[in-house]
Amino acid sequence: MNVADSDRIARALGTLGLEETNDASQAGMIILNTCVVRQSAEDRALGRLNSLRPLKQQNPELVIGLMGCLVGIKGNPALEKRYPFVDIFAAPSDPEPFLRFLENRIEIEASESWRRQVDEVLDQEFAVTTDARHTVSENLPIVLGCSHACAYCVIPARRGKERSRDPEKILAEAQVMVAHGAKELVLLGQIVDRYGIDLINGILLPELLARLSEIDGLERIRFLTSHPSWMTDSLIEAVAELPKVMPHIEVPVQAGDDEILLQMRRGYTNREYRDLVARIRDRIPGVSIGTDIIVGFPGESPAAFEETYKLLEDLRLDVAHLARYSPRPNTYSSKFFEDDVPAEEKMRRFRALEDLQKRVVSEINQQFLGQTQQVLFEAKQKERWRGRTSTNRLVFVESANDLTGQLRNVKINWTGPWSLLGTLT
Ligand code: SAH
Repeated sequence: MNVADSDRIARALGTLGLEETNDASQAGMIILNTCVVRQSAEDRALGRLNSLRPLKQQNPELVIGLMGCLVGIKGNPALEKRYPFVDIFAAPSDPEPFLRFLENRIEIEASESWRRQVDEVLDQEFAVTTDARHTVSENLPIVLGCSHACAYCVIPARRGKERSRDPEKILAEAQVMVAHGAKELVLLGQIVDRYGIDLINGILLPELLARLSEIDGLERIRFLTSHPSWMTDSLIEAVAELPKVMPHIEVPVQAGDDEILLQMRRGYTNREYRDLVARIRDRIPGVSIGTDIIVGFPGESPAAFEETYKLLEDLRLDVAHLARYSPRPNTYSSKFFEDDVPAEEKMRRFRALEDLQKRVVSEINQQFLGQTQQVLFEAKQKERWRGRTSTNRLVFVESANDLTGQLRNVKINWTGPWSLLGTLT
């Protein structure tokens, strides 16, 4: 979501004629986009922000902008006071303050057309109008914010309540992205499978997937992240039936112990999650399933953690994003539960799951050895071309040709836990 937000602001500025630089000391404007989902992310954001202070001291003309969850949807007066060298503060997904700020700096005679352009750019939202920064795989947010309020999660407070975007707007943006060369769209939402539930006269995710599938030139559609409780049979059916929708589902479990799941306010049990995985696998053969897990949530005993370990061991999921619990400001768990699992123990549990998952994924990937997979190539990385299989596995091949945006058959001749190597056939 943050990548999509960063792309949005970069494209907005690009459309208005600003150029990108990789050298911060050369920049006339620096915008720092921030994530605060865990304490480590917030520490990193603050570290980066502090590193900009000397640049501003050297060059008072430099414009510094801060956006994202560090700021939050409601603004953050304490932060503004603490960082007076920041010129502009903006909520997640909102480029408007930057554009309005620039508007006021523009020469009088240019200002009329500028103002019109700014209005246009804001109206285009996530769609691409600039010729720069196009990618084969584009992120397209379809649900902003979140209203679920998992006990540990700061996102609802920082990104605001759940808002599904207008389907017509999404379809129009998708058209623009495909016209600019996108072959794959990744639909984004904190609980993406709830898409449309809050809309009056809207459509739900299965129908949106069907309508997006009609776009000529679009090869692949993915969506993330799903919540187990909203993964309906009709959504699973849509993934099974629509050829452009890839057999890859990100559906976080977070924990394996029912008591912990209850305290986390997730709304399902271990049994229900296992049943869901079985249902998905039954209906979509060869599907890959990803999950997120938090270890060391308050009150997680060794026996409770064992439930998570067993779940991951039994289900053999294709991806597991692991995190150690950290209390976040004003969340339910930070207010009412003590962060009582020691840091070393969190690390031990994290490592145990990491080792397990590495073994499982290595074994799963070995099955691809000698097989031919259809790969969508995204870009060159070092000396190789990087692409993904339908199930989102990373594949690297060597080729003298530009493979960007091409869908090619690849024979896999090496597999590891995190990527596959192969040759074009
Ligand atoms: N709504 C999305 C994104 C949530 S943030 C989703 O459900 O996937 C991504 C992951 O960060 C979450 O799934 C969770 O595993 C983790 N996370 C969120 N809050 C956390 C916290 N306070 N401590 C540790 N990990 C956390």
